[in-house]
Amino acid sequence: MSLIINRNLCPQNHRCPLIKICPMNAIVQINNKLPQIISEKCIECGKCIKFCGMNAVSKQN
Ligand code: SF4
Repeated sequence: MSLIINRNLCPQNHRCPLIKICPMNAIVQINNKLPQIISEKCIECGKCIKFCGMNAVSKQN
């Protein structure tokens, strides 16, 4: 299982607020591009899924 950020839902025009709420520092973003979740760091706590106002984060099998 891993988490993905849907590029069709993320507007990619601002600093991702999920970066600060991730307890594992597993979300990285270059400029305002699509953020990436580093699967090796992510513990799948689900915080980012709930926090994203665009519902752009989801679990993927
Ligand atoms: S599920 Fe938790 S650990 Fe994984 S990227 Fe989201 S906030 Fe970070």
